[in-house]
Amino acid sequence: MIDKLRKIFREDQIYSTHKDIDCFAFDASLYTGSPVAVVRPESTDQIRDLLGLARRFDFSLTLRGSGTSKTGSATANDSVVVDMSYFNKVKVVNTKDKWIEVEPFVSVDKLNSILKNKGFYFPFESDNKVATLGGLVSTGYVSKYCFRYGKLEDYVLGMEYIDGTGKIFYVNENNSYKDILGSEGSLAIITKLRLKIVASVKKRSYGRYYFQSIKELLKKLDDIKKGEFSSRILSIYFVSKSVYVSNQRYSLFVEFDTTGISLDDEISKGNNFVLKTKSIVKKALGFVIDNTQKYPWNVLEVEKVDEELLKVESLLVSRKYIVVHDPKFSSEKYFDFIRLCEINAIPLTADLGNGIFYPRFNTNSSNLEHEMYSFVFENDGLVSGGHGIGLMKKEYLTEEEKDSFSEKKYKFDYDNLLNNDKVIDITRFELFKQKKGQTKKDALLKTNNLF
Ligand SMILES: Cc1cc2nc3c(=O)[nH]c(=O)nc-3n(C[C@H](O)[C@H](O)[C@H](O)COP(=O)(O)OP(=O)(O)OC[C@H]3O[C@@H](n4cnc5c(N)ncnc54)[C@H](O)[C@@H]3O)c2cc1C
Repeated sequence: MIDKLRKIFREDQIYSTHKDIDCFAFDASLYTGSPVAVVRPESTDQIRDLLGLARRFDFSLTLRGSGTSKTGSATANDSVVVDMSYFNKVKVVNTKDKWIEVEPFVSVDKLNSILKNKGFYFPFESDNKVATLGGLVSTGYVSKYCFRYGKLEDYVLGMEYIDGTGKIFYVNENNSYKDILGSEGSLAIITKLRLKIVASVKKRSYGRYYFQSIKELLKKLDDIKKGEFSSRILSIYFVSKSVYVSNQRYSLFVEFDTTGISLDDEISKGNNFVLKTKSIVKKALGFVIDNTQKYPWNVLEVEKVDEELLKVESLLVSRKYIVVHDPKFSSEKYFDFIRLCEINAIPLTADLGNGIFYPRFNTNSSNLEHEMYSFVFENDGLVSGGHGIGLMKKEYLTEEEKDSFSEKKYKFDYDNLLNNDKVIDITRFELFKQKKGQTKKDALLKTNNLF
């Protein structure tokens, strides 16, 4: 195998010792894969030739960004890992027409640090600082800011990719890239992205609310969404009381765009509440709740709340709640789902702007996870709000969903060379092909007579 890879890659682009490849066996899920080797391509030609080699010698490829997938979609199952880290350049920043062209290994964080100086922003950040744009587009990523900015797919204006047959599609060529969105490295290898950007938010502030009951919480959520400042809401984050050990309250964190509203103006106008809040906050570095204040946000700096939310994550991990699911519900199901988690002592956080819930499990609670999915199906929920399917949720897809994905696989990766055990099983795809009643197509790939 390694000798064959040497026909395409330089020695320093191939990794095959345990020391070098073991870390590619994992992602941010609990799954462990078994990579055969890792290659780091630096051109589309090398990727196309690699696909030719994979078809000829019958091995599969697993695409890899930063490996932070929570579903096992970046783990390699007896396959060669395609590490995209050389595709790391921001190619064009067009602030006039508000778009950029980037290679897929650029992280949201890096992109935003470049755009910041120009007053622009790509609004899909999270506490994951290393996730790549290729990973985001491939998993159908949802950030808490989607409440304000809408879906990631609406920000993808074009894509360059090589499908499983080795065919290269260029950025301006056609709209078929829409099929590749959210396909988890199972249909094509993304090599360039054209993305929409927006003007950056100059000032953000949080409102933080506590509640004793779910009803109170949902009432407030409704009020805020319909309220005077609804157009300023950036994100809405919920932490259930089962997350905190000592704090038996539900918390809601609502982030607002407070650009153009100055706290100092309020103080100079003699707004006593603001003055009082500021001094208490200064003293205690805690939060103040007073829903009578003029504005529904607090004076605390955004970083403080972000820090607090990160502490929630660490707390859950330290208590061994390391399995995270991401079902999505419509708002009338929120109450029942929060109750279900509470009754079963499942710690829960949620992005209530987008209706995505993050129930946490430890490693020996698979029965509880199945039970939760029964609730998802009975209540017309979605199996995944943003993390994708990977290995983790394959069993929860309906037969129609499996057929629909197989149809795309049939079109773009007939020989199942790309991430071949993710989203649907290998045998399920073979059955689909048999049902279609066609024999194996001739390879479409030009292999440059290398092999
Ligand atoms: C702390 C933390 C916070 C997170 N927060 C969120 C969140 O807010 N919202 C959310 O939706 N998810 C979140 N996630 C999940 C994860 O970050 C996302 O799934 C992210 O999109 C993965 O990016 P990555 O670069 O790590 O991709 P990887 O994990 O390396 O890969 C993810 C998938 O994309 C494919 N892929 C990668 N690059 C390419 C390419 N160039 N071409 C084709 N396929 C490719 C891989 O094969 C794999 O199927 C979080 C994860 C962590 C650990």
